Amino acid sequence: MADEFPFEISPMFEGERIRKEGMHVELAGPKSKGFELVRAADMNDVEDGRFTLIGPDLQDMEEGSRYPFAMIYKIAGELVETDLESIVERRNHEFQNYIQGMMHLNQRDDVWIRVGKEAVSKGLNSFEHIAKAVMMLFKNELPFIEKVEAIYITDMDEIEKEIENTREVYKARDERTRGLHDEDVDTFYGCTLCASFAPTNVCVVTPDRISLCGAINWFDGRAAAKVDPEGPQFAIPKGELLDAESGEYSGVNEFAKKLSSGEYDRIKLHSFMEYPHTSCGCFEVVGFYIPEVDGIGWVDRDFAGTAPNGLQFSTMAGQTGGGKQVVGFLGVGVNYFRSPKFIQADGGWNRVVWMPKMLKDKVFQDMPEDIREKIATEDDAKDIDSLRNFLKEKNHPILERWVEEEVEEEVEEAPAKTQAASQAGSATPQMMQMPANFMPSMPMMGSGSGGVRIILKNAKVTVDKITILKEE
Ligand code: SF4
Repeated sequence: MADEFPFEISPMFEGERIRKEGMHVELAGPKSKGFELVRAADMNDVEDGRFTLIGPDLQDMEEGSRYPFAMIYKIAGELVETDLESIVERRNHEFQNYIQGMMHLNQRDDVWIRVGKEAVSKGLNSFEHIAKAVMMLFKNELPFIEKVEAIYITDMDEIEKEIENTREVYKARDERTRGLHDEDVDTFYGCTLCASFAPTNVCVVTPDRISLCGAINWFDGRAAAKVDPEGPQFAIPKGELLDAESGEYSGVNEFAKKLSSGEYDRIKLHSFMEYPHTSCGCFEVVGFYIPEVDGIGWVDRDFAGTAPNGLQFSTMAGQTGGGKQVVGFLGVGVNYFRSPKFIQADGGWNRVVWMPKMLKDKVFQDMPEDIREKIATEDDAKDIDSLRNFLKEKNHPILERWVEEEVEEEVEEAPAKTQAASQAGSATPQMMQMPANFMPSMPMMGSGSGGVRIILKNAKVTVDKITILKEE
């Protein structure tokens, strides 16, 4: 059946990256609009295999351009239920990446797709090929789907009409877990969908911790494990509670060892600093420790600017992803900000000092009221100095972690500029003791420290020979 397509379909194409120079078109993404949505429907409301396109097709698109793009799949079957929608939706990401010459990134209304020039030259000239291939994979890999039909939209007006309803669906899904907590259940759920590019990733989904990709909550994990226990989502018996504050469970630790092939044997679900959850690369937001203020900042995919530590989302994501447990960085799903256990082992919201305005607005209503105005955005702080000043001005609770330093007598004799800087820093954060493996590549961004700062971005360093000499 796969012969009917003008491309190869295989999991081996999953890691394929299509760069700007090699793309025929870019669909949705940060500079346009789009979404993916799966809806469970009655058997009679789904015409199996049907494909509908609203807007221009691939062959009508100009090479090198960008277009809005939405994908809606209606699924039906005796075992199909609403809780399975997110799971099937996440598989759209996987299956589109099986197609040679296609790259699908992110999820929900953050999807970002590229179709490569080479694939188009080999005959991929219609979205129908893509939709039919994905529908075939849905039915082959997810046998509970008896009927599926696809509607793709490339018309901006139509997408704008649909996108708000779609966001309501995402919101309703996210809200389902609000009344349920980790202590109320015996079983968490794991997911290995990202294992192909993050082999040591240990993805654990609990009522108080949505997946990093933001697409799978505890109910979704449960529904998927029920219909396909051998599939990529599976049950993790919680086991014994080892530490309630950080969310450490013996069952999770056992699975961590198994899933990471022995790389990790401890995961603390609600900890940022100690044995944090691994980060695959699909995370919606990355958190970063800022030693200069002993606080934590967060930056999401949509923020194109630079965080106060001088780094962009893409740089930090590159350092954090790959299924690693990186102390000082953490990938999370946006909905985790709404969890009552949000990084509770490290002070929760009282430890948060900076986030982009758009992200802050998104979760504003879910923040404790007394911290809302004390968390800086790019409008308040663009670097460490302005962040430190903002936190002092707002009397952020992080100040309690700072220690008063005695202003040394020599300061009085120092030049005016140095003196001002020293006084501004007279209450300074007591940096936490970081382990030896704390991201040696991360530059310390404090001002006035002198010396030389070298930042290597996307660098490849080749060393033919290293000679280590004993110091005489
Ligand atoms: S981030 Fe986790 S839950 Fe989401 S697809 Fe990857 S492994 Fe699955």
